[in-house]
Amino acid sequence: MHSKVVIIGSGPAGLTAALYAARANLEPLVVRGLQPGGLITTTSEVENYPGFVDGIGGFELAENMEKQAARFGTQFLDTLVTQIDATVRPFVLHTDSGEPITADTIIVATGASPRKLGVPGEVELANRGVSYCATCDGFFFRGKSVVVVGGGNSAMDEGLFLTRYVNELIVIHRRDELRADPILQERAFANPKVRFIWDSTVAAVLGTDKVTGVRVRNLKTGAITELATDGVFPYVGHVPNTQVFAGLLTLDENDYIVTDARQHTNVAGIFAAGDVVDHVYRQAITAAGEGCKAAMEATWYLAEHEHAAKKQAEREAVAAPA
Ligand code: NAP
Repeated sequence: MHSKVVIIGSGPAGLTAALYAARANLEPLVVRGLQPGGLITTTSEVENYPGFVDGIGGFELAENMEKQAARFGTQFLDTLVTQIDATVRPFVLHTDSGEPITADTIIVATGASPRKLGVPGEVELANRGVSYCATCDGFFFRGKSVVVVGGGNSAMDEGLFLTRYVNELIVIHRRDELRADPILQERAFANPKVRFIWDSTVAAVLGTDKVTGVRVRNLKTGAITELATDGVFPYVGHVPNTQVFAGLLTLDENDYIVTDARQHTNVAGIFAAGDVVDHVYRQAITAAGEGCKAAMEATWYLAEHEHAAKKQAEREAVAAPA
């Protein structure tokens, strides 16, 4: 399988790149990856994507983006890229489902994944009370008490979504003020189901076959207490999905891909966009913007190379003996 543009990842960055590359008649191929639609599909309500006056569900937004990219000829493949050979042209992408793919250009849009708390019980009780997706799992906690860890936009957004179902939401945050946007803070403080435990972290998730509580450490006093709860939703930031690119693309000290202002990586012909690059803004709209830039850059890169190849062929034809 060969494509002029292979896009790895199918969140807002990847799907916007696909839309632009498809409209440039490049027939892009999107390798969807582990989470089709990307992290935005786990967001209940997106209220800040322009054009949707009353907001839109994250899943629906991703679905619309995919349909729009497909309408102009984007192809999709459900597999994972496991390795890239950039010593040859076209590039060779190895996948976990058989035949390698070759590509003239690559746009990396693999996004980021929720950061784990890294405490005892978290992995053991995953899907048995520990969840990273309120939108997916909130319903199972109807009438119960749950803990959200973190003080950012995700913690407040998803916590507020959970209050539709739960009787009590306890936010455990390591400082005594939130990082979340003021509008989300106001909503959380005004919600009678929400209470806060400040200056504290979760030291362990407790339970045998399901979550029954958390061990809480107060960072100011050092005091350890146990709190009964039915669920734990960690929202403590993200880590970029760059393991496959280590050794090939330049990464920064936090493993995000380094690009220039035009989404070029250190390898000519490979571009990167969205949360895999951006640890500052991390919005669907900025990811989409970078996806657009990456696709336009890939289009220009291909045009330049086709032009250079044509000129070279002409020179060789003139130089060849009759
Ligand atoms: P974030 O803004 O990085 O917030 C992470 C939160 O977790 C912070 O409150 C941080 O505490 C805390 N934290 C980090 N490591 C921790 C640890 N090891 N133990 C305990 N707490 C820890 O991440 P996010 O909330 O996932 O948001 C990511 C990006 O998506 C942001 O740019 C955000 O604006 C965006 N987003 C936007 C919306 C929206 O606009 N509605 C919704 C969701 C996400 P400190 O505050 O002390 O650092």
